[in-house]
Amino acid sequence: MNTMSEKVKSLIDKLAAEKSLSKEEWLAVFGGWDEDDRAYAAGKAREISLGVFGNKVYIRGIVEFSNVCKNDCYYCGIRCSNTNAQRYRLSDGEILECCAEGYEYGFRTFVLQSGEDYAVYHPERMAGIVRSIKKAHPDCAVTLSLGELERDALKLLKDAGADRYLLRHETANKEHYSKLHPENMSFAHRMGCLRTLKELGYQTGAGMMVGSPYQTDECLADDMLFIEEFGPQMIGIGPFLPHKDTPFRDKPKGSYELTLFLLSLCRIMLPRVLLPATTALGTIRPDGREQGILSGANVIMPNLSPTAVRKKYMLYDGKICTEDSSDECRNCISARMKRIGYEVVVARGDYV
Ligand code: SAH
Repeated sequence: MNTMSEKVKSLIDKLAAEKSLSKEEWLAVFGGWDEDDRAYAAGKAREISLGVFGNKVYIRGIVEFSNVCKNDCYYCGIRCSNTNAQRYRLSDGEILECCAEGYEYGFRTFVLQSGEDYAVYHPERMAGIVRSIKKAHPDCAVTLSLGELERDALKLLKDAGADRYLLRHETANKEHYSKLHPENMSFAHRMGCLRTLKELGYQTGAGMMVGSPYQTDECLADDMLFIEEFGPQMIGIGPFLPHKDTPFRDKPKGSYELTLFLLSLCRIMLPRVLLPATTALGTIRPDGREQGILSGANVIMPNLSPTAVRKKYMLYDGKICTEDSSDECRNCISARMKRIGYEVVVARGDYV
């Protein structure tokens, strides 16, 4: 075994013991790891998640209720400049129907995700939807993933009963942020929004794409330092995957192995964090989500959107589960988890 690898393993041990590494140490990890280190981290991470969650996997039903977006993120397939995207919006009734169907299949968390479509799904309307879901399913958690909203709106939604909010920071490196987003989008605003979410008492999810264009080891080090300092309750991590109708169409996809490694490092640093094995991970590899769970993830987010619109919520090329119905996705996940010795549970799965 080479000395570089020994160094990385000793840093993984240090992370497990102290839950913290310096920027220099993170740079040494990302600059020096190999497959053996990844397996080492995965083993530790898996031991930790088995200790905290046992072999139980939480599921969240995701309802992608609108692909209309005012933003123009260079990586994203539903960016406003993509005129090839067929836009759709679900009615309040359709959203509620998705949740009712999901409830039958054992979902106790509903994630409402969309583009930034506030002109139509204004905060008052979203608050009404949240209230209706909570009224119909008082035993369920509602997670929102609507993009950057102002404090008043986030407060209104929290008061309406929303429990959690997913807003990936995308990158904790300001310079990198500006290479992924047009000038009218602000790193400071997104980060400020994350802090507001936490202050308002949301269980808050941050996260980043792995291997997004122009990402360096330093960006990843900044991501890990940010995650340590911010202490999110959830972390969404998936590989960047190009979309044919975006400026990043010719950029290489992110690394599957690095994604798994990062999941393990997050689990080791934050033992109780809710960590999904993402759809993008399942897209880059057929058994990516299973390997994610075996690397320390403990959440899966099957799709609850109506089959008719699934292909239209195409954030990147090749997204899986766009042909399936909600019950097919649900059964598929149960079978996949069973095969690796894990069990999907009917529970809200809050952060504790
Ligand atoms: N409008 C919401 C939801 C965005 S879509 C918001 O702004 O938070 C959810 C996530 O998909 C994004 O945060 C991004 O990290 C991820 N995503 C978008 N395009 C992607 C791509 N090409 N490859 C991988 N992940 C992508």
